[in-house]
Amino acid sequence: MAPTPSQHLPSIDVDVLIVGAGPVGLNLAYQLRRYSSGPSQSSRVTPISIHIIEKHPKPVQEHFGRAVTFWPRSMEILAQMGLADQITQQCVAVRSSAAYDATGNEVFGRGWSFLEGIEDTRFKFASVLRQKFVEDIVRAKLNELGVQVSEMRKFVGLEVDESVPPGEMGRVKATILDMSGGEGHDKEYTVRCRYLIGCDGSRTVVRGAAGIESDGDRTEDKWVRIDGVLKSTSMPKPRSYGAIESPIYGNVLWIPLDHGATRIGFALNEDRRKLYKELNEAVFVQEAKLSVKPFEIEYERVDWASVYSVGQRVARTFWAKESVFVAGDAAHSHSSGAGQGMNAGMHDAANLGWKLALVLTGVLKRDVLATYDLERQPNAKRLIKYDEDISVLVTGRLPKGWTGDPNEDPNVVLGRILQEAKGFNTGLTIGFDPNIAVLGDDGGQDEAVLAKRTLVPAPAIPGYRAPDVQVLTPALWEPVWLQSLMPNLARFYVLVFVGKSPEAKAEFMELRADLQKNPHLKLDKTTQPESNGTGTHLNGSSYRSWPVDFLTILPDKVGNAWFELGTDPVGRVYYDNDGVANRRYGVSDTSGAVFVLRPDGWIGAKFPLGSKGLVDAIDAYLGGLLLR
Ligand SMILES: Cc1cc2nc3c(=O)[nH]c(=O)nc-3n(C[C@H](O)[C@H](O)[C@H](O)COP(=O)(O)OP(=O)(O)OC[C@H]3O[C@@H](n4cnc5c(N)ncnc54)[C@H](O)[C@@H]3O)c2cc1C
Repeated sequence: MAPTPSQHLPSIDVDVLIVGAGPVGLNLAYQLRRYSSGPSQSSRVTPISIHIIEKHPKPVQEHFGRAVTFWPRSMEILAQMGLADQITQQCVAVRSSAAYDATGNEVFGRGWSFLEGIEDTRFKFASVLRQKFVEDIVRAKLNELGVQVSEMRKFVGLEVDESVPPGEMGRVKATILDMSGGEGHDKEYTVRCRYLIGCDGSRTVVRGAAGIESDGDRTEDKWVRIDGVLKSTSMPKPRSYGAIESPIYGNVLWIPLDHGATRIGFALNEDRRKLYKELNEAVFVQEAKLSVKPFEIEYERVDWASVYSVGQRVARTFWAKESVFVAGDAAHSHSSGAGQGMNAGMHDAANLGWKLALVLTGVLKRDVLATYDLERQPNAKRLIKYDEDISVLVTGRLPKGWTGDPNEDPNVVLGRILQEAKGFNTGLTIGFDPNIAVLGDDGGQDEAVLAKRTLVPAPAIPGYRAPDVQVLTPALWEPVWLQSLMPNLARFYVLVFVGKSPEAKAEFMELRADLQKNPHLKLDKTTQPESNGTGTHLNGSSYRSWPVDFLTILPDKVGNAWFELGTDPVGRVYYDNDGVANRRYGVSDTSGAVFVLRPDGWIGAKFPLGSKGLVDAIDAYLGGLLLR
């Protein structure tokens, strides 16, 4: 019902309006608050003000089943944001897979077999936790930071006032319908903000309102997903990630869920659909039982069941008019065939979160915001292309334009493609081309080199993730994961690998001395004491004017770092454990190297330790991003 003028509420001014409180909207709200409040930030920074709206009340929103799996890179990202612990407390860590042909014989190297060989990460498994539980975790964290989701508020439209400079208050004006008063009592209000983020899912209204075009299509294929607790089953490995190669229902998905539940997913072809007047829960249960044949299942309880049309769509750009962003399903939607949707959304959120927070707190140049689109849109396009093939194979057909053997079994092809795309599926090889936040790379455009980067382990070069390895703590020599030493607090990390040679030690001395001459990177004891982001203060009460923390990695375990170096390390010091860190980072343990890591855990720049003007080079990279 259209509101009458008397039903207008006063307008609200906020830094950021987030539309949609799914996993992506909640995560972005959490990050923006986390990076602008708490001990890691200067007390001069006021928390970013956020209005996050959701059109459904929580009980309704919770009823949707949707995503269930986080792949390893997503878990690494969430761990650095301080969210993984709660997820691992509740999730099913699935380390095994099982695939069965139509007669129920176990077949190997097919289905989800790729997840048995996950390496190069702490999270060597699929973390299965239903979306509603993930949302609960992030919501609770967000509430702790003083932000509540405004439910029953629907985004209706927006206007970008071009007379207001980008980033200024009122650049974006959004119209919101407040439906919380019950039917017939809708009220409208305006939100004036600096930035708006559309996290409103695949049926996004924000994308169109911002004038962002998209490409894609729906197919005729329909898939069913049913989550529930099974009373009994004859499926031999019900707690593995499973695939049953049905001649009628495609490659049937079997996922052991949290809280003792199981997800079964299958394609419901037209012939099957025609058998029913209405597609309801009873039909889904009946069809699920047939889809897993020759195995038997009996349901104790169904939590959620749904049928949906498979389709793919991607926005041409992930931002408009330098002030409206789209993220998650609002930016890219596809089938759930490879279980990537929520994961891709987390990658979007991790990419945008620190950039927007640092722009809003006056630390980062506004130009850096453009890299969100430059980095995420091509990856989403790649995902869409991949999903087009995967979804057809899951449905039981060979992909369009298939040039291989026309008689090949789609299940065999599917297993092979999932294996080949392991780096992409797990998220561990997702990379970005050079831009202002990614300083060049080592390989140019050589195709063989680029192809290698899609294989796990991807090289530790700019544009790729900073690998996780175990290093040793000083004195105790206790192993600790490197990524856990670098939480995402919207701060950069500089990793200094010191080589063993006398030259490398001299170069380290020079680096240390030059850092103290740099106004943005020197430790300044005269400035107000600040935390280094880990709750501890270094070298007394000192800090750097840029949000940058240093870690020194020595090539061997030693008794005392000062004695080895002849000086203090820069930042905290850790020791390599039998050369593991040097090898994984591709660093000669004789000469050393320096990596600048972005807050999201991707490598931004790499330099040899002995390169001339090293501190100037670090300064030039960071100075391209951070305001002086
Ligand atoms: C059946 C199914 C199974 C899936 N399985 C997986 C899986 O296993 N793994 C995986 O990674 N992904 C999976 N996905 C995809 C995954 O659910 C999505 O990618 C993920 O939910 C995207 O998160 P989001 O926050 O972008 O959008 P959503 O979760 O869709 O959240 C958007 C929110 O915005 C709200 N909203 C919409 N319009 C408005 C408006 N105008 N005003 C205010 N609020 C609005 C909606 O109510 C919703 O709460 C699956 C999806 C489906 C449908």
